[in-house]
Amino acid sequence: MLERKVTKNSALAIFYLLIKISTCASLGQKNSKTGSLALSNSPLTPGIVAGRLPVAALADNFADHTPPLDRHEARVAADRCYFCHDAPCITACPTSIDIPLFIRQIATGTPDAAAKTILAQNILGGMCARVCPTETLCEEACVREAAEGKPVEIGSLQRFATDTLMAKGVHPFTRATPTGRKVAVVGAGPAGLACAHRLAMKGHDVVISDARPKAGGLNEYGIASYKSTNDFAQAEVEWLLQIGGITLHHGKALGRDVQLADLQKDYDAVFLGMGLAGVNALRAGGEEKSNVQNAVDFIATLRQTADKATLPIGRDVVVIGGGMTAVDAAVQSKLLGAENVTIVYRRGQEKMSASGYEQEHATSAGVRIVCNAAPVAVHGDAAVSEVEFAYTEDTANGLTLTAQTFRLKADQVFKAIGQSLTGAPDGLTLSGGKIATDAAGRTSLAGVWAGGDCATGGDDLTVTAVAEGRDAAEDIHAHLSARA
Ligand SMILES: Cc1cc2nc3c(=O)[nH]c(=O)nc-3n(C[C@H](O)[C@H](O)[C@H](O)COP(=O)(O)OP(=O)(O)OC[C@H]3O[C@@H](n4cnc5c(N)ncnc54)[C@H](O)[C@@H]3O)c2cc1C
Ligand code: SF4
Repeated sequence: MLERKVTKNSALAIFYLLIKISTCASLGQKNSKTGSLALSNSPLTPGIVAGRLPVAALADNFADHTPPLDRHEARVAADRCYFCHDAPCITACPTSIDIPLFIRQIATGTPDAAAKTILAQNILGGMCARVCPTETLCEEACVREAAEGKPVEIGSLQRFATDTLMAKGVHPFTRATPTGRKVAVVGAGPAGLACAHRLAMKGHDVVISDARPKAGGLNEYGIASYKSTNDFAQAEVEWLLQIGGITLHHGKALGRDVQLADLQKDYDAVFLGMGLAGVNALRAGGEEKSNVQNAVDFIATLRQTADKATLPIGRDVVVIGGGMTAVDAAVQSKLLGAENVTIVYRRGQEKMSASGYEQEHATSAGVRIVCNAAPVAVHGDAAVSEVEFAYTEDTANGLTLTAQTFRLKADQVFKAIGQSLTGAPDGLTLSGGKIATDAAGRTSLAGVWAGGDCATGGDDLTVTAVAEGRDAAEDIHAHLSARA
């Protein structure tokens, strides 16, 4: 793990050195006599402004942060695998990919076969290779991690195999004979897409309705820009749809444009994969002031903005929360050129849901993390100018605010304190704010399945959503076949 961390951290160190250089450069250029690349704004410009960094620096900051392996590097990385018999990496993968098999296929020079091994279990294996927290999943479980602190680079090898196949435009699966059955899928995120693809493979016709203008869910609107570059999310959706038998309706929301009762009537089965569209409130006085924003909305805008130089960002940014969304909002604020970015989390650092690796990622980007503090008031006239926090104590009786407070200067505040399920159709049993499902994804309503973030079950991760969508599809297929 240590060497792996060193490798990942060395890459990060170079990455952030470039940010620092470009930040200094932008300040210098402002006063330069040459005027060639003069900027009107810099990290020190007060308020919320666009173009804090030169265009080239922004391009570097938002480029692919883990460059792909070439053929030779992939063979060398694959040769490190012991091809374990009872491979712990397989058990640690939520989609149970046969990792030693696909690595052996790379080692023997057949990356297309390796890709098929991956995609048979995880149809979004290309995206998962980019975004999976492998350091807490397969690579943490790898025996070479335990023995040497340096796991086999499973994520990078998965990307090498899937990219090789997708670059050829090849779709390695074909549909079974059409069954005449129709299934409605709500949500075109990882859960909905995985479910739809598996059902289409089995010969069923699938109609997906998604509220947003583009498919992909958080792959398109949430994942950090530098993890998914070159419009990969859309390319992957296009590639996945090559299976045939899937119709995709954009801008069609359950509860607004389509009702569950109608779907139940018109289709043989329904799968709900609508994620968590709501955002929790801060519950601190003044949170309605302008420039206090949901982190997920900021990230969605950032993902949809091709020219990052046009995206305004504050000089002093405060992010409230302790998960992946907080880290992504904070790091990307820094990459846009914010001078001071602070994450404030209400409990101790060890309780942050962002992994140790992500926390390190944030601090190496220059983000400050303040723990054991909760927001009590947002100050400012119409717009935020400061956030007041109280220190907290995490006791056996719960979290309490102490009388000690402090203020942080802020011209922009991002709320990242969790997402919630909104608009769950009436009649569905909920548990812990999510749709209650059994192990197969069945909900309390007959003929209705659910999976991904909106449903109870595993972690809120892309790979978990794929596994749940796929498994629900298998159960739907078994159910429809039994009825035939
Ligand atoms: C900022 C951020 C960063 C993340 N980074 C990572 C990461 O690096 N790695 C990782 O593994 N996980 C990451 N995650 C988590 C991961 O993105 C989710 O777990 C995953 O996308 C869940 O997939 P899903 O299909 O359940 O939901 P979503 O991806 O949320 O997709 C749900 C889909 O349903 C649609 N929808 C919503 N409501 C309706 C409705 N009423 N009618 C019709 N359609 C509807 C939405 O438009 C969307 O397309 C991140 C999450 C966030 C918020
Ligand atoms: S645990 Fe590591 S060495 Fe063993 S099969 Fe998996 S990747 Fe290869």
